[in-house]
Amino acid sequence: MDRLDLLVVSAHSADYVWRAGGTIAKYVMDGKKVQIYCMAFGERGESAELWKQGKSLDEIKKVRRAESQKAADILGAPVTFLDWDDYPLVINDNRLYELVKIIRKFNPVNILTHSYVDPFNIDHETTARVVKEASILSIAAGVLPEIKIANQARLFGFEHHQPELSKFNPDVIIDITEAFEKKKQAMDCFQTQKQLIGYYEKRAELRGNHARRISGNPEPKYAEAFTRTYPLVAGEFL
Ligand SMILES: [Zn+2]
Repeated sequence: MDRLDLLVVSAHSADYVWRAGGTIAKYVMDGKKVQIYCMAFGERGESAELWKQGKSLDEIKKVRRAESQKAADILGAPVTFLDWDDYPLVINDNRLYELVKIIRKFNPVNILTHSYVDPFNIDHETTARVVKEASILSIAAGVLPEIKIANQARLFGFEHHQPELSKFNPDVIIDITEAFEKKKQAMDCFQTQKQLIGYYEKRAELRGNHARRISGNPEPKYAEAFTRTYPLVAGEFL
């Protein structure tokens, strides 16, 4: 089986759209293989509007799942919901090994997940930590030796909601101009958190400005920024 181009691991059902929806759509438009996993729906921590409406936990999960499925369909990438509960998201050994198996199954070239610091969200920090741990375990021959090990993946992190307070310093900026319309449509699916739609539209514009300034290329209008865990290895400066 060919290696997956991009494995996206999102703590909650909307995180991957706010922070990487343009990059995901762009990968898909370029004919690359992408798979998304959501650890939880954000049913307790990111669904305040639905709790105010008096919905039950199961009803809230159903709404959040439907929003996310619709968004992933627009971006063009398959999504799998692990339903591991949020606030707090707890990763025991079984779940950690489940993540190792997922990484080995897809053997991704790139893994995109949360970056390590988010002072406002414990699940985002948990996800960043355990995905890195699972990635390291996935290439160790002595861990689950009956399953073929993965190749080393590149590891990238989302830009969180409050980047300055999350010690966020972008290592990679992806031009998402051609994919922005799809990102916008995908963001519009999340009516539960509709207050975030305009915010992330502006953030994409802001990063587009940075992309133009840094590259000298006047074309980028919208962009997304990411951290990079390991250094770039190349034959020349890129
Ligand atoms: Zn989240």
